[in-house]
Amino acid sequence: MNVLSRRAFLAQVFVGGVLGSVLLGACDSQATAAARPTAASATSPSLVRLASVSDVADNATSASVAPSATTTKAAQSRGTRQPNVLLITIDTLRADRIGAYGFGSAHTPTLDRLAAEGVRCDYAMCQLPQTNASHAALLTGLYPSTNGVKVHMVDHVRSDVQTMAEVFKGAGYQTAGIYSWVSLDPQFCGLDRGFDAYHGYVLNRSLLFSNSNLEKLSSIYRQIKSDVPVVSAADAALGSSEQIEKTIDGRADVTNAAVFDWLDKNAHPDSAPFFLWVHYFDPHYPYAPPEGYDHILGLKYSGKIDGSADTMHAISKNQLNPTPDDHARLLELYQGEIAYTDSQLGLLLKKLEDGGLLDDTILAVTGDHGESFGEHDDWIHGLKVFEPEIRVPLLLRYPPRVPSRVVVEAPVQSIDLMPTFLDLTGIKAPANLQGVSLMPVLGGTSDGKDRVAFTELADESFVSMLTYQEWKLIRNNANDELQLYHVSADAAEQKNLIDDQPKITRELRARLLDMMKFSGVSK
Ligand SMILES: [Zn+2]
Repeated sequence: MNVLSRRAFLAQVFVGGVLGSVLLGACDSQATAAARPTAASATSPSLVRLASVSDVADNATSASVAPSATTTKAAQSRGTRQPNVLLITIDTLRADRIGAYGFGSAHTPTLDRLAAEGVRCDYAMCQLPQTNASHAALLTGLYPSTNGVKVHMVDHVRSDVQTMAEVFKGAGYQTAGIYSWVSLDPQFCGLDRGFDAYHGYVLNRSLLFSNSNLEKLSSIYRQIKSDVPVVSAADAALGSSEQIEKTIDGRADVTNAAVFDWLDKNAHPDSAPFFLWVHYFDPHYPYAPPEGYDHILGLKYSGKIDGSADTMHAISKNQLNPTPDDHARLLELYQGEIAYTDSQLGLLLKKLEDGGLLDDTILAVTGDHGESFGEHDDWIHGLKVFEPEIRVPLLLRYPPRVPSRVVVEAPVQSIDLMPTFLDLTGIKAPANLQGVSLMPVLGGTSDGKDRVAFTELADESFVSMLTYQEWKLIRNNANDELQLYHVSADAAEQKNLIDDQPKITRELRARLLDMMKFSGVSK
C-alpha cells in the first residue's frame, strides 16, 4: 500500500485529467456554506494540557518566561483600545526542528520562549504544502479549493473572498504585509488585498526582473491553459520557479529592517491598532545560514555538499544521491537557518517590548509548510502530505486572554488562525469562514472532538486528514488507496494500519470524503 512514486503519480493524475479539471475548474467553485462535517464517535484523549517543564523550558536553550516591566506597564495602560495583531510566518519551518517541540539541539530560544508564554499547538497542519497556497489559506481562513489559490504563482485569491487584511482594515486597523519572497508579490497571488502597505524584501531582486521566464510566467500559463496539455503548464511554472530560486533569496535581517521602520512610523499608543503580517524566508533552501550559524550542530563534516538551490533540485530529481554524512550536513545547514531566523525573531520581540507593544499585541508564529529530507523518498516540499511537509509549529501569545504554558493536542489548521484573531479582537468574522477559533478549546467550552486538520495538494492527487484521536488518513484520490497512521505512536508514518483497524479506517474514510466536499476539493 505504498503511495505511488512521484513520477507514476503525476502520470496517473495527468492522464486522468484530474489536474486539468482542478486548474480549469478552480475559479468556478463557490465559497461553500456547507455544514461542517461532524466527528465520528470515540473516546477523547486530553485535548488541552498544561505544558510540563520538559515540554517547554528544558527544550529551550535560554527560555525567558517573565514578562518585562515595560510590557506589563503597557498592558495596564491598554484601556479599551483593541489589541494589535501580529502574524509571523516562517517559510519551510518543520515543527520537529524546534526546541519547544522536542528537538534538543534546536537553538530556538525565541520560539521556545513564545511556547512558554502562550499556547503551543502540537498538531498544527498547513492546508497545502506550498508557499502561496498555504499563505492564502492563512490569510483568508478558507481551504485552498475554496479561496482559489492552489497552483503556486499562478492562482489568485478569488475576488469574492474577504481576506483577513480586508476584515481588519474594515474594522479600523492599520494593515501591513512585509514579506521576503517574490512569489508573494501581488501579481502571483493577489494577497495584497486589504493591506495599506504591502512590500516584499528580497536579495538580488534586480536579477529577478532580468529573468524573462518569470516575467512571462503568467501569460505563458494562460496561453498553455487554453490548450489541453496541462503537464506542460505545470512544467513551465516549475521551471521558472526553479530559476528564481537560484538567483535570489530572502533574509530575516533585511525584512526586520523594513518591519522596524514600519513600526517606528505607524505603531504608536495613540494611533489605530495594527494588523501586521511578517514573513521570513530563511529556512527555505538555499540553506546558506550566515556565519556563526553555519555549524550550529557542531558536525565534523568533510564532504563537499552545499545547500544551494541547484543541489536541492538535483537531489529532489534523483540526479544526486546524498551520503548519510551529506544528509546530516544538509540538516545542519537547515537548522542554522532556523536558528538565525529565531535570533531575528528575538530582535523583533525586543523591538515590541522596548516600544511597550508586546503585551498589547496578539502574536502568532507559524510555518507555511515543512520540508522533506528524504523521508518517504521525497525532498523539499509540495508533493507529499506526510508530517515533514505539512506539520508546522503554531504558537499563540497574548497574556490578557491566552493562557501560558498550554499545549493544544487537538488538531489545528492554518485556517483556524483568522477566526481566532477575530474572536480575540471581537471583530465579526465573514460568513462561511471554514477555520474554527481556538478560543473555545482554550477556554474549556469545547472538548475539541470535532476538530480535524485537512490538507490537500495542488493537483488534488492526495489528501490527508488528522483527527483528534491522532489518527491520520491519507487518500490517493486517483484510486481511493488509503493509508492510516497513528501519528503520536508512529511519528515517521511507517506502519500503515488500515488492515489492523478496518472499523476506524471505514469511519475516517467517510469523514474524509465529507471534508473533501466541505473544503471544496470535491464538488
Ligand atoms: Zn513556503
